[in-house]
Amino acid sequence: MAEQPARKAPKATEARVVRTERITPHMVRVVLGGPGLDAFEVGEYTDHYVKLLFAPEGVTYPEPFDMERIREEFPREQWPTTRTYTVRAWDPVHRELTIDFVVHGDEGLAGPWAARAQAGETMRFLGPGGGYTPDPAADWHLLAGDESALPAIAVALERLPSGARVHAFVEVSDAAEEQKFATAAGVDVTWLHRGDRPAGEAVVEAVRALDFPAGDVHAFVHGEAGFVKDLRRHLRMERGVARERLSISGYWRLGKTDEAWRAIKREWNDQVEREQEN
Ligand SMILES: Cc1cc2nc3c(=O)[nH]c(=O)nc-3n(C[C@H](O)[C@H](O)[C@H](O)COP(=O)(O)OP(=O)(O)OC[C@H]3O[C@@H](n4cnc5c(N)ncnc54)[C@H](O)[C@@H]3O)c2cc1C
Repeated sequence: MAEQPARKAPKATEARVVRTERITPHMVRVVLGGPGLDAFEVGEYTDHYVKLLFAPEGVTYPEPFDMERIREEFPREQWPTTRTYTVRAWDPVHRELTIDFVVHGDEGLAGPWAARAQAGETMRFLGPGGGYTPDPAADWHLLAGDESALPAIAVALERLPSGARVHAFVEVSDAAEEQKFATAAGVDVTWLHRGDRPAGEAVVEAVRALDFPAGDVHAFVHGEAGFVKDLRRHLRMERGVARERLSISGYWRLGKTDEAWRAIKREWNDQVEREQEN
């Protein structure tokens, strides 16, 4: 059998923090720019994402930064740690990339980084990837998630044309986390306040209580994996939404770092499929 060529490491984009803004008490907007973004482009998706690269503590890489070289010369545990974030906005004229980070406490890499990021700092990333954009042929759209999915939901709402029929539910901790954004479709988000309730309970309840409009729905449901699983069951089994009309996944998992979540994500998804599709 012919030997498989070694997979080339993806090329990283190097950006600088241009400015930051605390848009709500627990959401920090970081705008990235600099000459490294000259070749950056995004495509058609409203859920485009990039994978931010964080060097493990105490590790520095040779300049210029080169993923190929890092993979060849550094042991795997010293490769950069990745964190996935939605492209909230891309300005192709000023070549600025906007990312909104949930500031969820002192734990983790990306949230704490964003909370203290300063103009001039370097951030490297891979991507963009993506997979969803609201289908103009759908009769109506369901968008549901927590704060982590709010950037992608906001992009979808901004993209939907006037007259589009949409139900959008976003769970945030309290009223101070609500955001305003202009939508052509004139759609209002239904803001759900978590308060002391478990993550996602309010959004599951709201979707369950929704009087579904007739016709073909195209749905985007993302956020904490536990409630996403519950909503998937509801949408597939109780509402009969076809699998291909659902963009649905756990963006993060309560009590698990992103590495720990990604390590079990495939098995988790397989199990969800087994439970819900058979
Ligand atoms: C395609 C995709 C797009 C995403 N887009 C965004 C985005 O635009 N903005 C955004 O903020 N997040 C987004 N996320 C989610 C983000 O990648 C995760 O929340 C990630 O775990 C954050 O990394 P961290 O280093 O801050 O925390 P980690 O080191 O991964 O986790 C540390 C601890 O914090 C908890 N934690 C992680 N995220 C949250 C949270 N949101 N709320 C409360 N507790 C949390 C974990 O359960 C863990 O206990 C996206 C995820 C995916 C897959």
